[in-house]
Amino acid sequence: LILKWKFNYKTMHIPVIRTNKSRLAAYDFTNIQFGPNPTDHLFTADYQNGEWTNAEVKPFGEFLISPLALCLHYGQTVFEGMKAFRVADGGVSIFRRDKHLLRLNRSLERMCMPAVPEALFYEALDALVGLDEGWVSGLTGNSLYLRPIVIASEVRLGVLEANAYKFMIVALPMANYYDGTVKVKVETEYTRAAKGGAGFAKCGGNYGGAFLPTRLARQAGFDQVLWTDGDTHSYIEESGTMNVMFAINGTLITPPLNGTILDGVNRDSILTLAKDRGMTTEERPIGYQELETAFKNGAEIEAFGVGTAAVLTQIREIDILGQSYFPVTPNDGIAASLRDELNAIRTGRLPDRYGWNH
Ligand code: PMP
Repeated sequence: LILKWKFNYKTMHIPVIRTNKSRLAAYDFTNIQFGPNPTDHLFTADYQNGEWTNAEVKPFGEFLISPLALCLHYGQTVFEGMKAFRVADGGVSIFRRDKHLLRLNRSLERMCMPAVPEALFYEALDALVGLDEGWVSGLTGNSLYLRPIVIASEVRLGVLEANAYKFMIVALPMANYYDGTVKVKVETEYTRAAKGGAGFAKCGGNYGGAFLPTRLARQAGFDQVLWTDGDTHSYIEESGTMNVMFAINGTLITPPLNGTILDGVNRDSILTLAKDRGMTTEERPIGYQELETAFKNGAEIEAFGVGTAAVLTQIREIDILGQSYFPVTPNDGIAASLRDELNAIRTGRLPDRYGWNH
């Protein structure tokens, strides 16, 4: 990757235009409505003539876009989802920004879009989160969700990779995303991503294509689908927009990173914590038949999804071809204790022994 960035990392300062109409004082952090309510500012930059330029932080607001802009047509849109937390010493910490940048650039490469240089990404996050620091509430379970977005902005209809892009970061206060546990259905008809496709990329199309199967699952009484592989529809891939894990008789099993699933930051974090505890962890294909057999044999099974928005969500019911199975969802089991440790590390209540916090 050739990364061009005209500022020196040490001396670079992103220009900031502050809002004169802050919405912060009126915001109710005890009743967060995630989605339509951003912080006061956003970061934007443009990619033109082979380099990133026009970086600035400014008041959150709309921008004009031509109906011919390529992002509206051929799906060159990529995003990330990450979080900042209020930490125990009163400061603010961004969780695993390096891993999110790596994934962003892998997604961009897959979609034929220009990489975001490390200096630009880190400076942009610092500038935005620094300015909107007051939006990072210290209430339990609260965080600031950060959404980097890169879109093709070139105004020219034609099925071709674009040569102009926009990079933005918006921030939104977030409370706990899912309440309680979820009920899922093993999806054996629809496919989220095939081998050789773009399943590992966080590109918009992966999400649009998932809406219909998810709607059908909801109409049938489930919260989300457990995706299976596109070849055989028998190996479990992901759970909705979370990576999925099973603790079967104390062994932590999760599907491998084979290109069809997202390389989740929380997946990696939970695996790291589990290995450190001396737990046996296995990254390998796990079929629904294996799960069925384990349930029928009376194995002790915890099942859960992990992801930035949901953190860790326990699965209380799994439908396999019309038959319901019930993992256990204890408050003091493997899932809950890994979740609590992860939350404690990223809010500074336990030492940051992996250097995850910035
Ligand atoms: N899978 C998919 C499809 C997702 O959208 C997400 C959320 N980014 C995840 C898994 C979990 O990834 P992470 O832990 O990095 O949020």
